[in-house]
Amino acid sequence: MKFEQYNIPEEIKKSLSELGFRKPTDIQYRAIPSILKGEDVLAIAQTGTGKTAAFAIPVISRLHDEPRDRNSQLGVRCLVMVPTRELAVQITEVFETLAKYTHVKVLSTMGGVDEAPQIKQLQDGIDVLITTPGRMFDLRSRGHLNLDETEILILDEADHMLALGFIRDIRDVIRYLPRHQTLFFSATIDDDIKDLAYSLVRNPIRIQISPKDPVSKNVDHAVAFIEMDDKRFFLERMIKENGGKKILVFVRTKVRAERVHKAMERVGIDTLTIHGDKEQEDRLEVMDKFRKGDVNVLIATDLSARGIDIPGVNFVVNYDLPDVAENYVHRVGRTGRGMERGHAYSFCAEEELEILKEIESFLGQEVKRFNIDKADYSMTLALTEESNNNWQKLLLDAEKEQSVWEKKNPKKNKKK
Ligand code: ADP
Ligand code: MG
Repeated sequence: MKFEQYNIPEEIKKSLSELGFRKPTDIQYRAIPSILKGEDVLAIAQTGTGKTAAFAIPVISRLHDEPRDRNSQLGVRCLVMVPTRELAVQITEVFETLAKYTHVKVLSTMGGVDEAPQIKQLQDGIDVLITTPGRMFDLRSRGHLNLDETEILILDEADHMLALGFIRDIRDVIRYLPRHQTLFFSATIDDDIKDLAYSLVRNPIRIQISPKDPVSKNVDHAVAFIEMDDKRFFLERMIKENGGKKILVFVRTKVRAERVHKAMERVGIDTLTIHGDKEQEDRLEVMDKFRKGDVNVLIATDLSARGIDIPGVNFVVNYDLPDVAENYVHRVGRTGRGMERGHAYSFCAEEELEILKEIESFLGQEVKRFNIDKADYSMTLALTEESNNNWQKLLLDAEKEQSVWEKKNPKKNKKK
């Protein structure tokens, strides 16, 4: 069935056609009718399967078709809660694009940006508010946010919110809300998520799209065995051989993100970094530059692995394997989105073999091996533009020190 045949407003169909969305994805096909009917929905589907539009299309449709009643106090009609600011920005864009020709008003609030204009807009009346829990509570406690008439609550990336410890916040929100429809979206499901979902959602329609392989079928992924100290040379070569391609590089810590950035700088490669130490403004600017292609290589920590949708990422590189096996799926899911194809390569050093095993057991299958023969391996090292051996040794020592430190302080490392 095409979107054309859906019972949704023409205004939305127009945006869909401008976006080039003709047919719904699996999750959209299954979720849209239930949401339109007002049912609670618990949906689990892999990364990149179009979950955002799966809730945005029917929600905008309902808000457009059923205008506010006249005595309304201009409260928020639909509250979308997301774990990170980047996701808030991205989901807001999807809502704004889809709602462009409707009279549905969309706003996002988040920490770290000037709040005065947001408060003004809230007073004027907003239909859909996309927010992180922190800013939401803050605005509400100061009386700027009216949730008395909220009809729809959406929890996106619910698994990640749970992991970040937002569970109490979520329960608190539910207490504020009058009778409402709850939509619960997550890429993964485990017992914790199930408990949370069933404690929040009444008799939900459960939609699960999870084929045996949790990695999207659009992503071709493989692992190459590369020693820790050689990884940067392979990254250098990969970037140089794929000029103009969009490459997203994942590292384990923010310290490493900056270090890889410097190493690339020394060989003439411009890269961006994004991690928890950056100011909000910087992070938005970085994402914007990468999105636009001003700079084609972005080095990120797991902070950015979740949910972020950047069109046209050609390669994901796991420069370090993720500490948490599940994050492998989220990272490689940043490429091959929607109807695109993508490639993901993991650089696995000897000390990471254990993690690779965990990842493979999580995936329920082996990751394809990308074999580098000896001659090719040595050639990569020889090709590097690094010429000054002194600093090369310095860097090596520094990296060794760092990894010793990280092993000694595993807890501190987890925070990214
Ligand atoms: P998820 O939340 O499931 O990870 P997103 O909602 O971020 O996925 O969507 C992934 C990508 O798929 C986006 O780039 C989006 O524009 C694209 N997309 C979504 N729905 C469709 C569709 N029906 N047809 C074509 N592309 C789509
Ligand atoms: Mg998503």
